[in-house]
Amino acid sequence: MRLYILFSLLLLAVLCSSRVDARKVKFGNLCSGNPSNSKRKCDKHGCGHYGASRGGRKHQGLDIVCADGATVYAPFDVKLIRRSVPYTNNNAINDGIMLTGEGLCFKLFYVKPDRYYGTLRKGQRIGTMLPMQRVYPHITSHVHVQMLEVLPQKLET
Ligand SMILES: [Zn+2]
Repeated sequence: MRLYILFSLLLLAVLCSSRVDARKVKFGNLCSGNPSNSKRKCDKHGCGHYGASRGGRKHQGLDIVCADGATVYAPFDVKLIRRSVPYTNNNAINDGIMLTGEGLCFKLFYVKPDRYYGTLRKGQRIGTMLPMQRVYPHITSHVHVQMLEVLPQKLET
C-alpha cells in the first residue's frame, strides 16, 4: 500500500510541473451557462473562494458556478488521470475526476465524468454537473476546482 502511494505521488510529480503558475494559465469555459467562469460568492452553506472557512478547516479549492445537470467542458487540453471523489460517505454528488493539462494537476468535484481516462481537447465535454441542490438545498451549485501541488522535495523522506 505504501509503495502504491509512493508510486502515485511520483507519477503525479512527473505529470505536474510545480513551476507552472496557475494564475498564468488561461482557463476556457468550464460549465455550460457560465461562459465567464463566474465564481461562487457566499451563500448559506459558505463562500466559494480559496481559503474560505469550512468550520475548522479551509476551503482548498475554488468554486465555479454550474447549474445542476449542466455540461462540464475541458477548460484546456487535458488528460484524464483517474476518478477522484470528495466524500468518504457516498451521496448524490460524490464523483469527480483528476486531470492534468498546461503543466497543472487538478481535481474537479461534483461532476459525473463520461469516462475517467483518455484525453480531451479544450471545449470538449468532460461530463455532467451532479444534482447539488439535492444534497445542499439553496446552495449556489458549482464545480469545485482544486489544484494539486506536488513538489519534488515533499517526496523525499
Ligand atoms: Zn469547493
